[in-house]
Amino acid sequence: MNNFTYTRATSVKDAVQKSTGDRNAMFIAGGTNLVDRLKVFLDEPSQLIDISRLEMNRIEKTSGLRLGALVSNTAVADHPDVRRDYPILARAILAGASQQIRNMATVGGNLLQRTRCPYYYDTAFACNKRQPGSGCPALTGVNRIHAILGASDQCVAVHPSDMCVALAALDAVVEVSSPKGKRQILFTDFHRLPGNTPQRDSNLEPGELITAVILPPVNFAKSGVYLKLRDRTSYAFALISVAAAVDLTGEQIKDVRLAMGGVAHKPWRPTEAEKFLIGKKADATTFQQAAEIALQQAKPLEHNSFKVELAKRAIRRALTVSAKGGGVV
Ligand code: SF4
Repeated sequence: MNNFTYTRATSVKDAVQKSTGDRNAMFIAGGTNLVDRLKVFLDEPSQLIDISRLEMNRIEKTSGLRLGALVSNTAVADHPDVRRDYPILARAILAGASQQIRNMATVGGNLLQRTRCPYYYDTAFACNKRQPGSGCPALTGVNRIHAILGASDQCVAVHPSDMCVALAALDAVVEVSSPKGKRQILFTDFHRLPGNTPQRDSNLEPGELITAVILPPVNFAKSGVYLKLRDRTSYAFALISVAAAVDLTGEQIKDVRLAMGGVAHKPWRPTEAEKFLIGKKADATTFQQAAEIALQQAKPLEHNSFKVELAKRAIRRALTVSAKGGGVV
């Protein structure tokens, strides 16, 4: 085990200054994934900078909503504005983890949780995400839970978050701070596909700190649904999940949002399927065709070809329920 220092940041400026020039510094807030990783030496920071007491714990009304990075997952899911205007987000959060974990887990930390690929957590195995160039045993091993879209021959892991699937569908924006100032990153550009750099999950640069996630106004998000399919109905990661929101004029689809979880290294937005849906009649045939388009690039592994059909059915179901006004799927 590496020795590391623990310090408590007094402000966002103080936090980013403490991390400047130290690529092995890490921020800690709820710690619900980071502490797991520290315990098995996946992360060996030089310093842990505790940001948990910083003033980033408010949900503010803007043209949409601004979620401070330290707001707990529970507080987001329980917030009346989120429940009324972005039910897709509240339902995604409540589908994840356990009540105790949601009480500790933060908005910013949820974005930065790492894959639950079992080979990544078991240091007896090689893993390109842990040690670039060492290999990926999941490619030929047990890969039932792994990716069917956007993977590479370096890594076939999936992103584990439910909340992030809803945020991808809602066109959220991530606000970050660093010594260079503030910048905003479109949510769909925040996470990365593995390519040749599977060690990098996001486009966050060293020293950058997530300060907020911004939800733009989306009128029809009220009809949004989140469907999560998993091996047991509680406390399990998604095999497949779908966030969907349909905006109708009569029977015709005016606008739509679709995102998928459990299929790729990042929350997956099937934009070709979305384009196809606009202007079409909202019926079973249209939704089936959209599902086929969303999965046409799928490349299943030896043990997860079932995910392709499961994803198609989940898309059909989520679009159908949303087109009827939303609610629990
Ligand atoms: Fe590591 Fe990715 Fe392969 Fe899992 S899928 S063993 S995280 S490289």
